[in-house]
Amino acid sequence: MIHRIVLIGPPGAGKSTITPPVVEQFGLALIATGKFLRNEMSARSELGIAVESYLKSGELVPDTLMERLLAAALATVAADQGFLLDGYPRTLHQARALDERLATAEQPLTAVIALEMGEHEVVRRLSGRRSCMLPDGNRWTLHTDDAEALARCTAEGGTLSQRPDDQPDIIAERLKVYHEQTQPLLDYYRERGILHSVDAHGSPADVQERVLDLVSGLETVISAR
Ligand code: AMP
Repeated sequence: MIHRIVLIGPPGAGKSTITPPVVEQFGLALIATGKFLRNEMSARSELGIAVESYLKSGELVPDTLMERLLAAALATVAADQGFLLDGYPRTLHQARALDERLATAEQPLTAVIALEMGEHEVVRRLSGRRSCMLPDGNRWTLHTDDAEALARCTAEGGTLSQRPDDQPDIIAERLKVYHEQTQPLLDYYRERGILHSVDAHGSPADVQERVLDLVSGLETVISAR
C-alpha cells in the first residue's frame, strides 16, 4: 500500500519526533514545512529572509507562498513512494489546495493522523524545549526537566539553544493560531472519513509505537477489503 499521510497536532505535540521511524518503516518521503523554513532562515536564503518575521512571531506564512513550496516538494516525490506531511496543511485553504492537487494526480490522501495533547502539557513541553548543539554541528532535542539529558549534552561538549518561537508570548500566539486556523482541519478530514486520532502523551517511544501500529493497521484494513 502507498501511504499519503498528513500529520496534524498542536505545536509541541512531538510531530517531528515521531516522523523518523514512520518514514523509515514505510519508505515514505518526509515533507516537514517548519523544518524546511527554519533551514532556509539559517542559510539566509531569499526565501528564509522573506519568511523570518512570520516564524519569529508565531504567525503562519501566507497560503500562496506555502502552496507553491508544497507543490515544489511534492513534485520531487515518485508516485509509487508515498509521503508524510509534517506541518502541512495548517489552514483550510491549504487543505483544499492540497486535495485538488492530489485529486488531479489521482493520488488522494490515505490518512490524516491527529496528535492529541492538552494545552497544559503543550506549554510545558514547548517552554522547556532546548536544542543541544554539538561541536560537529549536529543537534538533538531535550527538555530542561530531564537532568540526565542536560548532563549528557554538557558531557558531549554541546551548547543549549532555544527556538526563538518557543518564548512564552510566541507560544501563546502559536497556540491561538493552531486553535483558530488549524483545528478546523480536524472536522474537514473527519467528514472525509480519513481522520485518525492518537494520544500524544507519554514518551516519544510510546507515541511512535501508537503511530506505527496505526499505520500498520491501515495496511491490514485496506488489504482485507
Ligand atoms: P513547525 O516547526 O511545524 O512548528 O513550524 C514552525 C513555523 O513555520 C510555524 O509557526 C509557521 O510560522 C511556519 N509554517 C510551517 N508550516 C506552515 C504552513 N503549512 N503554513 C504556514 N506556515 C507554516
